[in-house]
Amino acid sequence: MFEKILIANRGEIALRIQRACRELGVKTVVVHSTADTEAKYVKLADESVCIGPPASSASYLNIPAIISAAEVTDAEAIHPGYGFLSENADFAERVEKSGFVFIGPQPETIRLMGDKVSAKDAMKAAGVPCVPGSEGALPDDLKEIVRIARSVGYPVIIKAAGGGGGRGMRVVHTEAALNNAVNMTRAEAGAAFGNPVVYMEKYLENPRHIEIQILADTFKNAVYLGERDCSMQRRHQKVIEEAPAPGIQRRHIVRVGERCAEACRKIGYRGAGTFEFLFENGEFYFIEMNTRVQVEHPVTEQVTGIDIVQAQIRIAAGEKLWFRQREVELRGHAIECRINAEDPFKFTPSPGKILSYHPPGGPGIRVDTHIYQGYTIPPHYDSMIGKLIAYGDTRDQAIRRMRIALSEMVVEGIKTNIPLHLELMHDARFIEGGTSIHYLEEKLAAKDEATKGI
Ligand code: ADP
Repeated sequence: MFEKILIANRGEIALRIQRACRELGVKTVVVHSTADTEAKYVKLADESVCIGPPASSASYLNIPAIISAAEVTDAEAIHPGYGFLSENADFAERVEKSGFVFIGPQPETIRLMGDKVSAKDAMKAAGVPCVPGSEGALPDDLKEIVRIARSVGYPVIIKAAGGGGGRGMRVVHTEAALNNAVNMTRAEAGAAFGNPVVYMEKYLENPRHIEIQILADTFKNAVYLGERDCSMQRRHQKVIEEAPAPGIQRRHIVRVGERCAEACRKIGYRGAGTFEFLFENGEFYFIEMNTRVQVEHPVTEQVTGIDIVQAQIRIAAGEKLWFRQREVELRGHAIECRINAEDPFKFTPSPGKILSYHPPGGPGIRVDTHIYQGYTIPPHYDSMIGKLIAYGDTRDQAIRRMRIALSEMVVEGIKTNIPLHLELMHDARFIEGGTSIHYLEEKLAAKDEATKGI
């Protein structure tokens, strides 16, 4: 095991990684910007290094500063968390070339999966079911593009190979709109991701977002830890996640899960990863792979009893997977609500000082957050300030516990989306389970209409 790990992230995940390290008896170094000097995990860390001003580009994305911090503190490995540099292959490469262990897959794997065209090709070759679409990147020739769209069938979606965070996508319903949509997506992708390559997929009209968590070691052992349903989204951003996915038969999950584990063995995947799928009419369609820990990992931890962050660290330290697929048992149901500092219905960010804070508790409740009373949420970063996770023997019990927890939770001084979550925990369609990725936006739009009418 490592003696010391550097955490190259901030917020709740920095604290989560730190807790995993402490349990493993590993010392921690956190790097932080001048905006995060007062953060809880900075105070709790064995060592901390300020790496720059508030702007992420000068701090959390500052590769030379992070590598220097690891050098001066004698850290052995770097955990990138999620977001920031976690899926930056150049960073992973620099980390390893500088003599540190990158807690994540090899740089080549990150590069392969970071390009959605090459990722899809690799997954197809490994037998993972994909959304029907263009064979690789779209050509320049319009006639050829028109031919591909006809064979895929409208509506289609044009997607950037280098896209991420729900950006760089355009739905096309008619041939007349095709040329313009391709050109616009190409131009945007070139400007936003430095890569103008686009590809085409069939646009699925009413899918659910179902993802498979995997763990793989460096000895070509790979297991899947069941699925998560992350269909409750706004602007392609997840709001609520749960495990298992309501209403999907186990045999469907087993089939797709085994394919994912097999794909990991084939490509020599290392560490934790997630295969994201759209699920429609009983079929799974691969859309992308995330080569890092995900925000929603706790719901899988609650139903499997496996600590995913510790697993990442143990695998990076060279341990062989310590359990087999048949030992992975799913028990009960877990739901996660992402708590954001924002207006619950207008979604405008609401940073500032937390004047009072009362966390919820009781059976089955887990709170992953770095906030405390008196803490000031800086305006420079993502609005997510924590996660509330409710576990129960059944989905119904998890929902009931979540309602109680949300009603107990007090965060004053800023606005949060707790009222939206409370409303969703009483929503008839959510309670029924199995809503599509469009459900939340449709519900919010209907609500907007209703208030306009008053
Ligand atoms: P990103 O990396 O930006 O998150 P993804 O490829 O994971 O991009 O897609 C993000 C979201 O966009 C999906 O969760 C889904 O809501 C929508 N989407 C992507 N591809 C399709 C498709 N072929 N049909 C319908 N919706 C899609």
